[in-house]
Amino acid sequence: MKSAVFFERDGVINAYTQGTEPHRSPESVEAFTLCKGIASLMKTLKEAGLLVFVTTHQPGLAQGSLDRRELERMHLVMKAKLPIDDVLICPHEPSDPCPCAKPRTGLFKELEHQYRLDMDHSFVVSDKWQDAAAAHTLGCISVMLQSPLLGKVQRDYTLESLEAIGEKIAYLHANQSELMLA
Ligand SMILES: [Zn+2]
Repeated sequence: MKSAVFFERDGVINAYTQGTEPHRSPESVEAFTLCKGIASLMKTLKEAGLLVFVTTHQPGLAQGSLDRRELERMHLVMKAKLPIDDVLICPHEPSDPCPCAKPRTGLFKELEHQYRLDMDHSFVVSDKWQDAAAAHTLGCISVMLQSPLLGKVQRDYTLESLEAIGEKIAYLHANQSELMLA
């Protein structure tokens, strides 16, 4: 079984858009800019033998503020620039009781089954409490980016930068591999 790193998209892979409303997702490919350090972080993880996945909630699809083809264009750019194995999207409104909006675990479960993942030795990287809560439910290790969106839910590690997150996961993964060989 393989181990993976599940990334939240907005605020970790791409920057939020500038404007009056904080933490707003980009709605056009022109507004889609990668966060500094994400490319080298993902490269480190791939070289360590981890799979890299993206799970993202885009309620603008259901609300009509986000065009699906525009989202596909953003993700084409993202996948061209970063070593991502797969991207799963929840397109539903926050009020929709769907199984895939985080902290519910539908997107993670789908990837677990499709790629036969070892969830106990997989990681979740995000700036939001919903991902930390999902990681806790799934038994994954949460390695969070410091943010006002983290709330008070349980999380395993909270770090200040993507660089520090890369170092932490590489270290933990190397030690897991050693323990599994022993
Ligand atoms: Zn959903």
